[in-house]
Amino acid sequence: MSLFNVYPLFDITPEKATGVFVYDENGTEYLDLYGGHAVISIGHSHPKYVKNISDQVNKIGFYSNSIQNPLQVKLASELVEQSNCKDYQLFLCNSGAESNENALKLASFHTQKKKVISFKNSFHGRTSAAVAATDNAKIVAPINAQQEVAFFDLSDLESVEIALQKGDVCAVIIECIQGVGGLDESNTEFYKGLETLCNTYNALLIADEVQSGFGRTGDFFAFQKHGIEPDIISIAKGMGNGFPIGGILIHPKIKASYGLLGTTFGGNHLACVASLTVLEVLKEENLLENARILSEYFIEKAAEISEIKKIKGRGLMLGIEFSFPISELRKNLIFKHHIFTGSAMNPNLLRILPPLTIKKQHVDQFFEALKKELS
Ligand code: PLP
Repeated sequence: MSLFNVYPLFDITPEKATGVFVYDENGTEYLDLYGGHAVISIGHSHPKYVKNISDQVNKIGFYSNSIQNPLQVKLASELVEQSNCKDYQLFLCNSGAESNENALKLASFHTQKKKVISFKNSFHGRTSAAVAATDNAKIVAPINAQQEVAFFDLSDLESVEIALQKGDVCAVIIECIQGVGGLDESNTEFYKGLETLCNTYNALLIADEVQSGFGRTGDFFAFQKHGIEPDIISIAKGMGNGFPIGGILIHPKIKASYGLLGTTFGGNHLACVASLTVLEVLKEENLLENARILSEYFIEKAAEISEIKKIKGRGLMLGIEFSFPISELRKNLIFKHHIFTGSAMNPNLLRILPPLTIKKQHVDQFFEALKKELS
């Protein structure tokens, strides 16, 4: 085998996908409640998505960031309008880690400071500063560990304030709902408190919406439920429905200058068209509303199952917690019932991250399979 072997793989080879279903080489149909790790937002191979990307590659797929690209401007204005993040400006890159890397770098440029505050169980990606701000020692190499990051418990505003008082913190980075960590979320008082503290001590508040953004929680961004205004919002995953794209939305108080940030591939024509199509379909098909409705339905069905200890998360970013490790259950759901779900750092948590186009019959299909497995 010539691939660098870093991924434990399920022995399944998807060859085709449409809507909420994935098909292997034998034509076996799998219900996708994982969305390729929260990536598929408008459904696999959405006809508009396929057409728009195909049309674009027939015209021009890529040039560089040294020419005019009106698609980037259009994406910025559609995104700001649809997310209701008025006057924020967009910088485009290619992945979630890169978004957070640029967010942290920009915070450091802006404040001329270098310490970062992050939270226990957080995940922000695998590049230099992003991985240093991730609470998982196993994926932090010595070269990353030279970054100065302090980790606090979610909701521990007091420790955050003590750290900020030293005056050397450039950014507080937070997933409003933790993804990989296991769907934990604090309360409005805490998020508002963070916002106030960041303003008081001249640190930037970075909302990592890589997983929770683009409608997944039923709001455009998860932080919006708490009425805060982050200084930087990082985005990726559902933004491109599978086409690699990431970005940061930047508060107007942060000023741009030539050369401050940059990338070769970020904001290329194909990526912009992919994301513009996501925005168009989210609106046309009312997918945020669908996320809210289907979430309620899912939670109702989950409440009927006594083995479920707790249901966590919001919208279609959900976790169901059992009192036992879910790895066998997850395998059985895939191999016996042909349903993809996800896991988390919490071994008892099954993660549900379907395309936002999911319907009640798919939720029913999942609960029928789950009941069979638990009986
Ligand atoms: N931030 C969050 C909240 C994530 O869930 C992830 C990926 O799972 C990332 C950042 C990193 O994104 P990527 O894998 O695209 O670099």
